[in-house]
Amino acid sequence: MQISKSKALFEKAKNYIPGGVNSPVRAFRAVGGDPLFIKRADGAFIYDEDDNAYIELINSWGPMILGHNNPMIREAVIKAMENGTSFGAPTAREIEIAELITTMVPSVEKVRMVNSGTEATMSAIRVARGFTGRDKFIKMEGHYHGHGDSFLISAGSGAITMGNPDSPGVTKGTAKDTLLAPYNDLEAIEKLVAANKNEIAALILEPVPGNMGLVLPKEGYLEGLRKICDREGIVLIFDEVMTGFRLAKGGAQELFGIIPDMTTLGKIIGGGLPVGAYGGRKEIMEFVSPAGPVYQAGTLSGNPIAMAAGLSMLNYLNEHPEVYTELNGIGDKIVNGFKTSLDKLGLNYTINHLGSMYSLFFTDQEVFDFASAKYSDTALFGKYFQSMLHKGVYLAPSQFESLFLSTALSDDLINKILAANEAALLEIHN
Ligand SMILES: *Cc1c(COP(=O)(O)O)cnc(C)c1O
Repeated sequence: MQISKSKALFEKAKNYIPGGVNSPVRAFRAVGGDPLFIKRADGAFIYDEDDNAYIELINSWGPMILGHNNPMIREAVIKAMENGTSFGAPTAREIEIAELITTMVPSVEKVRMVNSGTEATMSAIRVARGFTGRDKFIKMEGHYHGHGDSFLISAGSGAITMGNPDSPGVTKGTAKDTLLAPYNDLEAIEKLVAANKNEIAALILEPVPGNMGLVLPKEGYLEGLRKICDREGIVLIFDEVMTGFRLAKGGAQELFGIIPDMTTLGKIIGGGLPVGAYGGRKEIMEFVSPAGPVYQAGTLSGNPIAMAAGLSMLNYLNEHPEVYTELNGIGDKIVNGFKTSLDKLGLNYTINHLGSMYSLFFTDQEVFDFASAKYSDTALFGKYFQSMLHKGVYLAPSQFESLFLSTALSDDLINKILAANEAALLEIHN
């Protein structure tokens, strides 16, 4: 595999961009080697500047659930662009997408569009604080909610990978209002709640976390959180930036039947353009400016091009529930194939899997929270990643990520992935 153009571009990029990338995990530091510079993508494939083709299992970290360069979304964007790219004034399309989101996501009665998942979570916490008149909030160890100051405390994925989970620049004053709990541990929440009576505004979590690798909620865990929050007047926020429109059209909340007070969305919602959103119960969302006193704004929020892409994506998912059956089938085939290979080779690993998300952990222990995820052999993962890449399969460049499957994965491509996986596992153990 020749990657000389990518290498040259990376060297040049480092002169002008910190670390050569606009988001840290793209730099491949956790897996070694240089990052690939991408020229284009189509369907199940991504192509680097040296014209190598790779089967995609990250899909832009989730958004490309229908595969890359989807003609329907592309047409919607081109059509919208013919009328201008930004107005800074309300448009009919914003009502259309807001209405659609409220019909798709069970907890959302009103919604505000923003430009990223980071903005969505920062805003949701501010609104929950304004609504309750309380300052503190609970976050789970290893969960990622974007790069807002108050979330950069045990923040999973990029932060683990970079080895500095507590970022310089986040003040002690900010950090003291973020209470940390291990995931899947209701006792720990009860203790925090008892020690901070009537001081906790919100509990935010990824209902099915994907940012410490994929981890599943234990039976009764989400129900338990819902009960505690109801009892204590705490705003329960599901960060479904990753899981929204992916695990089901209504996200994890639909799949598990647990309705949070607020929900944050991103990734798929923009169809590949930069979009986020937060929404929830009417009475809470009525606190948002200009309806209420909590300020939140955005020059490019609800941008007409971004809304056209998002609407096209969401309308399709809403009208084609069979997408989820198809994605679950693809997920099952890949994970079952992996398990067959692992058994055949006599290797012990943990695979966590739900629908079109999975993580293969290089540990034989059960992975149910951040501490157990960290038992994984990250050096071995790095070798596995490189081996898969050389066999033409593009994985997330860190052990602590979920993979995101798309409907573009045909049976033929799935077989190629399974063959590459078996060969890679064999290779890294020799
Ligand atoms: C990706 C992600 C975010 C941050 O979204 P950005 O658009 O990258 O700012 C927040 N929460 C979760 C769960 C995410 O996966």
